[in-house]
Amino acid sequence: MDQFENLEAVSIYCPKCRQAMPVRKRLLLVLLDKEIYEYLCARCGSSIAKKDQPFGRPSTDPTVGGLPRGPNPGQRRLR
Ligand SMILES: [Zn+2]
Repeated sequence: MDQFENLEAVSIYCPKCRQAMPVRKRLLLVLLDKEIYEYLCARCGSSIAKKDQPFGRPSTDPTVGGLPRGPNPGQRRLR
């Protein structure tokens, strides 16, 4: 039973601890096209942040919540 799977090497400011704390990432909700994760403070366990993560996209994408990249109807023509 390894528990470090959901532990990310990030720190988020926790209002209860009043400092940046390491967080645990927990899958909160699964939607059709994305997952919503919740970040819990590793010390007090309170929910600090939530993040949407579209399927198949890196979690560091700043354009989360934007339009999905579909096939471009006006494809570039090869020269
Ligand atoms: Zn805390």
